[in-house]
Amino acid sequence: MDVQTVQRWLRQAAAAIKENRDYLTQLDAAIGDADHGTNMDRGFTAVLVQLDGPDVSTSPGRMLTAAGGTLVSTVGGASGPLWGTALRRAGRSLGDAEEFDGQQLGAALQAALDGVVELGAAAEGEKTMVDSLSPAVRALSDALACGGSVADALAAARHAGEEGMRATVPLQATKGRASYLGERSIGHQDPGATSTALILAALEESVAAAP
Ligand code: ADP
Ligand code: MG
Repeated sequence: MDVQTVQRWLRQAAAAIKENRDYLTQLDAAIGDADHGTNMDRGFTAVLVQLDGPDVSTSPGRMLTAAGGTLVSTVGGASGPLWGTALRRAGRSLGDAEEFDGQQLGAALQAALDGVVELGAAAEGEKTMVDSLSPAVRALSDALACGGSVADALAAARHAGEEGMRATVPLQATKGRASYLGERSIGHQDPGATSTALILAALEESVAAAP
């Protein structure tokens, strides 16, 4: 995997978020302030502009770090700093290398998760993006440890992230804006876990689409 893989990931994530912008906003309307789709779409659209610009990064790590910075500076709301930190940490973990393997990808995603948890202080079960990202990172590393291919490990990660997303429905939110609703947050899927599942699916597709 190389800078083209990361570029495909960011482009596919941006497309998936744009396609699901209204859905993500509807989910946020139920338990938040109805801006998650527009927030994420604004950020990833800015990332696309950056990818098409003259200063596009030439290493996978630098590309992710730059994209994270763009998300922090363009997305209002909790999700901007959280996803921005995630991509920056992933980028820093990959460093300046031209290529990365499954283990390095696993380490980068773990660093992304650690950054989100450090910033947002949410554990699994609090009805946030962590409920999708954390099981995905675990599934990826478990699959690689069992000798699975990167493609298989990413498929497992995507699957675990989607399960984690669906598992947010019966949870009561105890972090973020949805926590203000208390018990009334129960019965709704978390918007941030939903966009996270989309981003994980984009990652799987971007690796599967390698020429
Ligand atoms: P805001 O809540 O500021 O309007 P968004 O609507 O863009 O921001 O994002 C909401 C999502 O952010 C939630 O669905 C949740 O997944 C995620 N989130 C909120 N607070 C936290 C936190 N402390 N840790 C992890 N994720 C969080
Ligand atoms: Mg919101």
